[in-house]
Amino acid sequence: MTHALDVAKRNPNAPTVAAESASASTPVGAPAARPSLIGLTKAELQAALAGIGVAPKATRMRAEQLWRWMYHYGVTDFAAMSNVAKELRADLDRAFTLDRPRLSAAQVSVDGTRKWLIDLGPGVEVESVYIPDVGRAGALCVSSQVGCTLTCSFCHTGTQKLVRNLTAREIVAQVIIARDALGEWPTPERPLNDGDRRLTNIVFMGMGEPLYNLDEVANAIDVISDGDGISIGRRRITVSTAGVAPKIPELGARTGAMLAISLHATNDPLRNELVPLNKKYPLEELFAAIRAYPGLGNAKRVTFEYVMLAGVNDSLAEARALVKLLAGVPAKINLIPFNPWPGTAYQCSDWATIEAFAAVLNKAGYASPIRTPRGRDILAACGQLRSESVKERASARLARERAQAGTPGAPGEP
Ligand code: SF4
Repeated sequence: MTHALDVAKRNPNAPTVAAESASASTPVGAPAARPSLIGLTKAELQAALAGIGVAPKATRMRAEQLWRWMYHYGVTDFAAMSNVAKELRADLDRAFTLDRPRLSAAQVSVDGTRKWLIDLGPGVEVESVYIPDVGRAGALCVSSQVGCTLTCSFCHTGTQKLVRNLTAREIVAQVIIARDALGEWPTPERPLNDGDRRLTNIVFMGMGEPLYNLDEVANAIDVISDGDGISIGRRRITVSTAGVAPKIPELGARTGAMLAISLHATNDPLRNELVPLNKKYPLEELFAAIRAYPGLGNAKRVTFEYVMLAGVNDSLAEARALVKLLAGVPAKINLIPFNPWPGTAYQCSDWATIEAFAAVLNKAGYASPIRTPRGRDILAACGQLRSESVKERASARLARERAQAGTPGAPGEP
């Protein structure tokens, strides 16, 4: 069996959609003459309707009608809302749009993984990644922040400073963009059976720490999971945290989502190095919070993410320590071959080591799939998000500065 564990190279053949052709709409996050309703919660939608003069006793019913058109059928034009009165459609069209955020780029990997770079206003771009054949049919990895405040030493995203938290609207918009691109919206004449869907799961494993933005993440999950709209059930939504212990039980109580922990080490000294947040919430405190997650059982297991770093955390002794650490927690473990990035000091464990590590976990009764690296050719793999776009911006800036200064680039430089 051969597995590509070498450094990712950009795929020159990966189709890229330029900003202009990807979408001509007004960004959700940018000032617009007519704001977009896309991403609003039910309460916000009712308030928007009240704002254009819909009678208080009708706002709830009208919001439900709009909801269905926006989030079940994914329409982009009020004119398509056939059961909404013509005058109201005209009023809506005068006051609002159904525009999606503008895309800066869209790429497709040779393995079918898709990545979207979404423009949320000047200097604010975020990435989301669709991974086929994950979960029931395919999973969308969404971002909850632009950049990250945490500095996990193996993660390239962590080298990029936090720009800001995303709003619930911006999180929901990532799902809508994916459904648009996958052509997954049914019509009243052409329903889409659940079994035909390609996007069935959501994972909050993109850029950022979701528990540092819990209010917006919880609101977004309310919209995404609503059965009259996008209808991706809470059991198919997973939120991954680096270990913000005090917020973990609250996440479960507010969202009912599945929990994933970015663990990567079985003792505090090593975890302090790999996930520095551990200094604030060490393993004992983290596991007390995990045990308090509501509803845990065989049908609701915690996923532990464990990146395989050669000579760092991949020994058989570590595997046995992991089994010991997880005792009593309904768990499965995702073993993630490390995705190298330029400048990192780490290397990926070799395949035999990863398999031997997995065997210890399997023998102890834990499901421990080795996650096949996906989308490496478009830098969409774990921990690689945002890096390429930042690099591109940095090189563009450098080129501009050089042009202004009249200096040529040094050999080997962009
Ligand atoms: S692994 Fe997650 S929490 Fe850690 S730096 Fe990367 S994006 Fe942030």
